[in-house]
Amino acid sequence: MLEHLKGAAFMTCFKNQFLLLIAAFSFGAILTSQATTTVDAKAQSAKVISEKKMPVKAYHARKGYIYSNATLTKIKHNAKNYPRTTFYAQKRVTVKQANGKKAVYYYVNNRSKSVRGYIWHGYLKSISITSATKEKPMSQKSLVKLINEAPDMNPDSQIRSLKKINYTDHESVFDLGYNVMHFSPRSMFKDNQATVYVASDKLTGYAQNAMNKWNDALKTTVFKMGTKANHTLTIQFGNGTKEDWDGLYNGKAIYVDKSHFADPKYPIGYMDEKLASQISIDQYWTGVIAHELGHTLGLDHTGYQEDLMYAQDSGGNVIAKYTWKKPVVKSSTGLDGTEIAKISERDLNRAKLTKILGYW
Ligand SMILES: [Zn+2]
Repeated sequence: MLEHLKGAAFMTCFKNQFLLLIAAFSFGAILTSQATTTVDAKAQSAKVISEKKMPVKAYHARKGYIYSNATLTKIKHNAKNYPRTTFYAQKRVTVKQANGKKAVYYYVNNRSKSVRGYIWHGYLKSISITSATKEKPMSQKSLVKLINEAPDMNPDSQIRSLKKINYTDHESVFDLGYNVMHFSPRSMFKDNQATVYVASDKLTGYAQNAMNKWNDALKTTVFKMGTKANHTLTIQFGNGTKEDWDGLYNGKAIYVDKSHFADPKYPIGYMDEKLASQISIDQYWTGVIAHELGHTLGLDHTGYQEDLMYAQDSGGNVIAKYTWKKPVVKSSTGLDGTEIAKISERDLNRAKLTKILGYW
């Protein structure tokens, strides 16, 4: 059953989508970084009157354009896209604008200098150098070291209480360190909540139980019931038997395999008797849905058998710190976390981390 459970189908579906997503993103990034809007130069070109170095200060930019030249003919960036970026100014230019008025522009750059240019000084709000320093992230190397010294796959409170900028600057390090990834569209979680529509009455009880498991564990309502007209996530039946899955999440909806669900003996009648005697069919389907809900939170599989997010093989993972073909650590009962619908401390800490990362 376990091999039927997760993995393959989830990943096959998801992976394709994911690659498309990456392609779209990098294409977009190339476009924006190369596109410089040229304003009608002759008509609007400003004249530089004076240029002066100034002691380095830190700023946030509220709005306005960032120009690549002091004559203000080439718009390079729109400051409103960088509300939390710390800019450093080191020189000021006084220009006579096309309309005849004088104005002071600062030449600013972000830390990596990927965003730089001239912006009207009135759009800048000075921030203390202290808070600018506070925003300085750890080096990638020291973060990797910290993660490697911390418990495997279990982001403890130390890992979850770093300066905020570390999570934005080193998102991929956390992804790889804890097998997590931003799987769900931003529109799925509003104010950290997904609104769930269960398309079949037969699934409602299991879905509610699975949602409660996460809500209780996280001590907040992350999944709430919605309607056909108002929802951000759907749980419905699908056909997984051929593709070997009982539950599947494709980035939009959760599917539960219809024929296995309809089989009153499944999965218990097909399991080792000793193991089967420890679980109920209800528990199993609750576990399947709870596992898929875990994917919506950005959790990929682990090799720890007690975890709800366990998979016996890393083959279906989109992201894996290391690969495994048998449990990294077996559970004391011999049962999977999914089969008993139990969220382990590791599952919970990973979900707390993905909240910090902004995945839900
Ligand atoms: Zn899975």
